[in-house]
Amino acid sequence: MAGMRALTFQAPGEVAVVEVAEPTLTGADEALVAVRTAALCGSDLHIYHGRVQVEPGFVLGHELVGEVVAVGAQVQRVAVGDRVVSCFRSACGSCFWCLRGQYQHCERGRTFGHGKFLGNLPGAQAELVVVPNADLTLRRVPEGMEDAKAIFAGDVLGTAYHAVAEGGLRGGERVAVVGLGPVGLCAVQVAIALGAAEVFAIDSVPQRLELAQRFGARPVPLGEQTAEKVRGATAGRGADLVIEAVGSLPALQLAIGLARMGGRLSVVGVHAEPGELHVGLLWFKGVEVRLGLANVIAHIDPVLALLEAGRLDPTPLVSHAFPLAEAPAAYRLFDRREALKVLINP
Ligand code: NAD
Ligand code: ZN
Ligand code: ZN
Repeated sequence: MAGMRALTFQAPGEVAVVEVAEPTLTGADEALVAVRTAALCGSDLHIYHGRVQVEPGFVLGHELVGEVVAVGAQVQRVAVGDRVVSCFRSACGSCFWCLRGQYQHCERGRTFGHGKFLGNLPGAQAELVVVPNADLTLRRVPEGMEDAKAIFAGDVLGTAYHAVAEGGLRGGERVAVVGLGPVGLCAVQVAIALGAAEVFAIDSVPQRLELAQRFGARPVPLGEQTAEKVRGATAGRGADLVIEAVGSLPALQLAIGLARMGGRLSVVGVHAEPGELHVGLLWFKGVEVRLGLANVIAHIDPVLALLEAGRLDPTPLVSHAFPLAEAPAAYRLFDRREALKVLINP
């Protein structure tokens, strides 16, 4: 059987590029994609650290742009030779949730590169990847758009768009974004593109605050006065919409504090444990809260349209690019928090 090279999980703190069997199509709805550009994401670090468990030898990665090299008999919307971007998670298109457009909750949904538990779907930090339900999971990349731009649509930018759209942004509103990693920085861009009057961007890392400012936000360094500063700039009220893009209780608590009475809170940061929150404050303020996994399939088309129109441009986030052979070094660098977004080129 032919082989290919892929980045695999070995043990906590250890990943390796090894030769694995070349994947082949097994379903009529699938596409085989030759990966041109993959990326590292904060979620990969959860696996790297052993917090999210995957089987040793499992191929990692869930962000990709590539070229379709084979399609199953049912695939209609993409063809061999197309350059495509994939959503980080597939959906069946026909279950209870898919029929309601809630693709992120699909009962047959599969996430690339997350082991048996999340659908046993080998990842994209590899030469080839099989994409389930290609008609729904893949999009053709608009002509002329670089891989480094399009790849954001399938995860980070799709998640940021979800945070803003599900947060119900209306034009002219004031938005606070808590956490300026790739997701938060993209949320800054999306909020501005969709008509926010002002965006307060909150983090402790100076370079990230500067990037948010370059994107048009008002940087607010994380500290004791953060909430006061946001309230001071909103006639004492707080933000209409707050986006939590961190995934920690202190960040969530801060986000609640930043929302105005009757405002909205959109939480895309991942929370997995029980924890204490000031529910009374939430109740008193009457804040509407949305949380959970991002519905990237539902948002990828407007995201690609905004990218194509030049109204979103996440490429300043790309700090490094490595060939696949050097992916383990890329993981180490990313783990040291020395990189914002790392691309991998198989
Ligand atoms: P990241 O770790 O790169 O960035 C997080 C940022 O938050 C960092 O810059 C950090 O300095 C900052 N931060 C930490 N504590 C803070 C606090 N109390 N207040 C303000 N800022 C604080 O993460 P990322 O890749 O941008 O992802 C952000 C979150 O979104 C993660 O939890 C990730 O798992 C999650 N995510 C969710 C989905 C989804 O489907 N909901 C999809 C993708 C990513
Ligand atoms: Zn990701
Ligand atoms: Zn489904």
